[in-house]
Amino acid sequence: MPVYTSEALILRTYKLAEADRIVVFLTKDRGKKRGVAKGARRAKSRFTATLEPLTRAGIAYYERELRDLVRINYVEPQRSALTAVARGTQDASALGHAEYFAELIDEWAPEGHADERLYRLGSSVIDALADAVPTDALARYFEFWLLRLQGVYPQLSACPECGGAFDGGAVMPAREQHYVCRRCAGGGGCADRSAERVGGTTLSLAAMHFLRTSATCSPDALIDAPLDAAAARELETAHRRLLHVHLEKELKSARVLRQIR
Ligand SMILES: [Zn+2]
Repeated sequence: MPVYTSEALILRTYKLAEADRIVVFLTKDRGKKRGVAKGARRAKSRFTATLEPLTRAGIAYYERELRDLVRINYVEPQRSALTAVARGTQDASALGHAEYFAELIDEWAPEGHADERLYRLGSSVIDALADAVPTDALARYFEFWLLRLQGVYPQLSACPECGGAFDGGAVMPAREQHYVCRRCAGGGGCADRSAERVGGTTLSLAAMHFLRTSATCSPDALIDAPLDAAAARELETAHRRLLHVHLEKELKSARVLRQIR
């Protein structure tokens, strides 16, 4: 049985038999894996507090021929939202966010296919969470980059309809997945067009500015790039619409976060 060691992000776990857990994790070098953590549900398990969603850990696992499930030998946690909450650098909402980020990565990462950029994104948001970056800004940053890495984030450089700048903010028209400038969103004087676009999502200049900053900075830097509450809500709505179209569902953890708020 070949044994592999890697840095990995824990994405989720579920119960197996009486005392075990199945762990879904994203390795840095070999993509997403599913493995059995023997005895992980026992009170004195060596896996206790190592399998929280979005924990970054050193992991060793055996791969068995013709089996989908690997066998996990050890998990050595390095950084997690849980330790940040325990130290008081983040409040408990960081745990809900860690779960949300992990669920999104799980949805997007294909099995057994290395994706170093996705790994780096996940790893960097763990550091940002642990370094007390506000969770609201971090969530919008993460969604932006996740969609961007998949090549589905709308164009930000110029309005795709008129080529003009987004100098007055932007609008994602109803049932569409791109941003247009306020002039085009208004129908350019064409009443039919304007009526067609009622119900779109508006992004203020502050929201657009946050996206442009996010495009060029690491999540740690968000600590100096505050996002006001109104702009955060605009981006949350736009991103929820984009995620909904591309995932064809709403994630459980996203619903829970909204209910908590
Ligand atoms: Zn335009």
